Amino acid sequence: MAGDKKFIIGNWKMNLNIHEASLYLHKLSGLVKNRRDVEVILAPTTLALQTLSLQVNPRQFKLAVQNFYWRDQGPYTGEVSATQLRGVVQYALVGHSERRHIFHETDKDVRNKVAAAIRNGIRPILCIGETAWEHSSGETQDVLYDQLNGGLANITSDELDQVIIAYEPVWAISAGQGSEPVDVSPSEVAEAVKAIRRQISHLFGKSAADSIKVLYGGSVTPSSVAEYLNIDGINGLLVGAASLNAITFNEIIKKAHDKNR
Ligand code: PEP
Repeated sequence: MAGDKKFIIGNWKMNLNIHEASLYLHKLSGLVKNRRDVEVILAPTTLALQTLSLQVNPRQFKLAVQNFYWRDQGPYTGEVSATQLRGVVQYALVGHSERRHIFHETDKDVRNKVAAAIRNGIRPILCIGETAWEHSSGETQDVLYDQLNGGLANITSDELDQVIIAYEPVWAISAGQGSEPVDVSPSEVAEAVKAIRRQISHLFGKSAADSIKVLYGGSVTPSSVAEYLNIDGINGLLVGAASLNAITFNEIIKKAHDKNR
């Protein structure tokens, strides 16, 4: 809907070292106009978060962590907790398909992370989506229902206010270099978004379903921004590969702003 705040997230995945991330932020800062109708969220490598948090203009960009461990502290060698990320990030990706499929994160891990983010004052962006096989077997809705039930099991309806859902069909997420991006039809995304809001309504009531923010992610480029943001019930975009180039990412942000006029 025009006028609604849009969320545009750049997920840099395991790309850019601290120096490169800092240069990128400097470049993007010069390109992006400060606009209150579009919340731009950057998700760099965890390593760069501290540096970027000191460099960033918090009115221009917010920061997100790509992953963290759900316990707050203790003997968990190599992990970073949401408690340690307090004050550094405002958002956290949770249950990204690469975490679920490469690192075998379960719904239990995901719901613990959603709860950990909320108790530490960080907004979780809960990523859900079906695989190619589930898609071709007609299981999309069941998968979305299961992932919502699993991911939101530990939170109350008051806490749901903090949660953002990102619908990302696994088969549409560019696997990185060399893979062909897949275009998902807006009608399929619209069906999935309806299913998501239906299930949120079932779990938390109609007003929660109406107000929750739902984003789309999967090979978004500047040329597909308008068609996805035009979908009823879509509040923004989660962008991977196309966010790695500051000029391209700025094009996406500009198009999101134009949609809101
Ligand atoms: C993502 O990282 O969540 C994503 C959607 O990546 P891409 O835009 O590259 O498909």
